Amino acid sequence: MRDFSSIDATAYDLIVIGGGINGAATARDGALRGLKTILIDKGDFASGTTSWSSRLVHGGLRYLEYFEFHLVRESLAEREILLKSAPHLVHPLQLTIPIYAKGSRSYWEIWAGMILYDILSFDKTLLNHRMLPKAKLKQLFREVNPAGVQGAAQYFDAQAEYAERLCLENVLSAQAAGATALNYVKVTALEREGDRITTLTCKDEFSEATFTIQTSDKAVIVNTSGPWVDRVCRQGERDHQPAPIGTKRKIGGTKGSHILVDTFPGAPEAAFYVEALTDNRPFFILPFLGQCLIGTTDLRFEGDLDRVKASDDEIDYLITETNKVFPAARLSRESVKCTYSGVRPLPYTESKNPGAVSRNHVLYDHGKDGVVNMVSLIGGKLTTHRRVGEEMVDWVYKRRQQPSPPCQTRVQPLPGAILPTDQRIAEATAAYGDRLSNPTLDHLFTLYGARVFNLLRLIDAAPDLAEPLVPGLPDIKAQVVYAVRAEMAYTIGDICRRRTMLSLQANYGLDALETISQTLQAHCGWSATDCEKAIANYKTLMAENCIPDYAMAEVLGDDEARSQRSFAADEATPQLAVG
Ligand SMILES: Cc1cc2nc3c(=O)[nH]c(=O)nc-3n(C[C@H](O)[C@H](O)[C@H](O)COP(=O)(O)OP(=O)(O)OC[C@H]3O[C@@H](n4cnc5c(N)ncnc54)[C@H](O)[C@@H]3O)c2cc1C
Repeated sequence: MRDFSSIDATAYDLIVIGGGINGAATARDGALRGLKTILIDKGDFASGTTSWSSRLVHGGLRYLEYFEFHLVRESLAEREILLKSAPHLVHPLQLTIPIYAKGSRSYWEIWAGMILYDILSFDKTLLNHRMLPKAKLKQLFREVNPAGVQGAAQYFDAQAEYAERLCLENVLSAQAAGATALNYVKVTALEREGDRITTLTCKDEFSEATFTIQTSDKAVIVNTSGPWVDRVCRQGERDHQPAPIGTKRKIGGTKGSHILVDTFPGAPEAAFYVEALTDNRPFFILPFLGQCLIGTTDLRFEGDLDRVKASDDEIDYLITETNKVFPAARLSRESVKCTYSGVRPLPYTESKNPGAVSRNHVLYDHGKDGVVNMVSLIGGKLTTHRRVGEEMVDWVYKRRQQPSPPCQTRVQPLPGAILPTDQRIAEATAAYGDRLSNPTLDHLFTLYGARVFNLLRLIDAAPDLAEPLVPGLPDIKAQVVYAVRAEMAYTIGDICRRRTMLSLQANYGLDALETISQTLQAHCGWSATDCEKAIANYKTLMAENCIPDYAMAEVLGDDEARSQRSFAADEATPQLAVG
């Protein structure tokens, strides 16, 4: 049982609904600037769109076609800040664009785009682009389909393989600065008096207990609930009758799906950004956790936001298009190790095709709807989360009619940042090299950065925690204990999907369940019954989000597969790619 009694009695300045990357960044910025802050998420932090993205920290080359120069410039500047403030989690990534005679953009158009991209990132630390003539492309990438190829462009962006941990570190940084952060707490009602929201009713998703947050005179509510923004607005109450905050629809989400496959013959070590030959849509083939992450699709979505799953058609589309670029890959449905899907919280428009909807973000002031102390975020990429946090907190100070202290997140590194002068990797190798292999130490530094010592100390107290979770992977039992004790993990999904990436590696994480269950019982006080329930819930999560429909019986066994409802089949996905 969690105790929420102190929350009722606290006067918060900033109440953030939604602990995805944008809410976490807003809470961090607010707490660092001295606002009494609370961050609430109905699920785990980063369990929404943030965990289903392509994980690129990018300027958005494609947005140049829509003349969104401001967005590209802003994203490129943020890319640079993140490379410095989270160097353990955000890494430079080289991308190659093969150019085909039948492609929608000519060699010269792509070259012009590359030059513009370099100009807009004039102050970057990454290298400029280079163009590859046909012969050079063939020499470097022998397995790329040569038919009609004219050459390629190469440029740098960045990748946050562990986007979930980037979000978590924002939450931990907010907490360290004094914020309260609650996962598995849903905001169920927003009660108004006059033109202000005065009370938020919240429900603990585990115990179903409810509690309230009273807002002070100058408190501001920030709605960063991503694709759920309109739903949160519908929870407005007036005199205990539901009365939505504004009637205008704000979010028109589009679904994007990915597949994960093992590296295949000719799979690039860096990333490929290619145009689908069927419909000229761009998609990525990315190195990810020693595998290849391929995506995405872009489909209007009106279904259940909590159960978004790649349909078999989307999977086939991504397989077919990848095989066209890398014929030696010979991917088939059997090659797919995992899938995932998310809904982009894009601004609602009636007519535009999904690919053309602006990826720019907007702060929607609910003063327009007669509520002066609430603002909602519409849009917002993973890349620009820090900037969103800064803009939100500037807005909050403006609304409070107070001068704003300077934003600190531009220069302050995240808690796990390993700075260039850091000697601690050598220290860890000296101290733990006898118990942990080099790949494990490397892996732990990548995930936890400078905070890894807190985790390693668990092994001093309990040596069995140095044991691997799954043969062949570098993850160890200590990560399970650390997730529960220090990183607010409450479920096996939190552990396997967002504190580690076992869900995307070890047979949907199923291969790790027995060891995780033993570790939770031995070190975290979970009972055998707790673990059984948690495992059943985890399998449901995987069935609802990650295991392709066609593979359910093989992965879960016939009986379990039958008991899991198929959600992909319910979705209205009339076409694969509009655009
Ligand atoms: C397929 C795909 C690929 C993408 N690729 C990239 C990329 O490569 N690079 C990039 O920069 N961006 C990318 N994006 C965009 C990016 O991932 C999202 O825009 C971003 O993660 C949105 O974060 P958020 O915090 O606004 O929303 P979310 O991550 O969705 O967080 C919202 C949170 O609100 C919570 N919530 C909802 N209702 C309530 C309630 N009533 N009470 C409490 N909490 C609530 C939810 O549980 C959720 O955790 C991609 C998106 C998709 C879908």
